Amino acid sequence: MSDLTKYIQLIKSGEVVAFPTETVYGLGADAWNPSAIQKVFEVKGRPSDNPLIVHISNSKQVADFALEIPDSATKLMETFWPGPLSLVLKKKPEVLDAVTAGLDTVAIRMPDHPLALDFISQTGPLVAPSANTSGKPSPTKATHVQQDFGKDFPVIDGEATKIGLESTVVDLTQPIPAILRPGSISRKQIEEDLGTEVEESFFHHTEKPRSPGQKYSHYKPNAGVRWLKENEQPENPSSLYLLISERESGSNIINYNEDLNKLAAELYDRFRQADHESFKEVVLERFEDYNSEIASALLNRINKSIL
Ligand code: AMP
Ligand code: MG
Repeated sequence: MSDLTKYIQLIKSGEVVAFPTETVYGLGADAWNPSAIQKVFEVKGRPSDNPLIVHISNSKQVADFALEIPDSATKLMETFWPGPLSLVLKKKPEVLDAVTAGLDTVAIRMPDHPLALDFISQTGPLVAPSANTSGKPSPTKATHVQQDFGKDFPVIDGEATKIGLESTVVDLTQPIPAILRPGSISRKQIEEDLGTEVEESFFHHTEKPRSPGQKYSHYKPNAGVRWLKENEQPENPSSLYLLISERESGSNIINYNEDLNKLAAELYDRFRQADHESFKEVVLERFEDYNSEIASALLNRINKSIL
């Protein structure tokens, strides 16, 4: 296991450090230090109206940020934490505006990764957006972080992330809970746990979305991204094909054999590979959900990269 001492010191002195979680690598900064949070926005080139998720290592820390903890939150925390589920709750007045982009709510999660939990338990709560340049595919390996921020950038190396897509974001501040961003914990799982209906609020590009991040383009490689057309054969050498159904593989044809979890885990790495190897486009075969919890999140990220 890596020695975290120097990274903990960096956080304590107001610097930013990238670290692995089970979803993607996060760019961590002390959630109570305004100038450290300012650095997060600068390093990423992130629009200042896009709020950050607070990452904690202990459920008790929720009470430092949330004004109230509804029963629904307690339930979801018990079932899914540590894990890829961010809860949007009414914020305490002392939570920094830079964290919430001036909203009266705050998003919080406890990541399911031993290094992340060890790190945060020694630094205290961290804001941690994905550790990529804004608009680029999120990093799922330490090398991705260094591609974006330089090879000397401080990053705790925890190997490739398991899930590969960002957390599910669920808003618990309204009478009906709403999923603002799909992730590997599905609507069905949340509904079953709460025993109530849950809305999805991520399809509509309304002028004022409930999650500010929804209005920004995301997850894009420089190469174009599109769906494989019906009856189209994967035969263009300047395209990188990500296929679902059983077919031949090749140097530019990767076959996922209906394993959507594997495609999700590798998607951003493939996007980055396409740019690294100068492919003109990434062509994805359409898929059904195959009863996979991650199907909705995968479709959401692919559609956003096509937009
Ligand atoms: P990232 O940190 O890059 O994974 O992005 C965080 C996502 O969480 C963005 O889409 C934000 O808009 C969303 N988010 C963070 N805080 C809130 C909040 N208080 N209310 C709604 N959405 C939020
Ligand atoms: Mg991001």
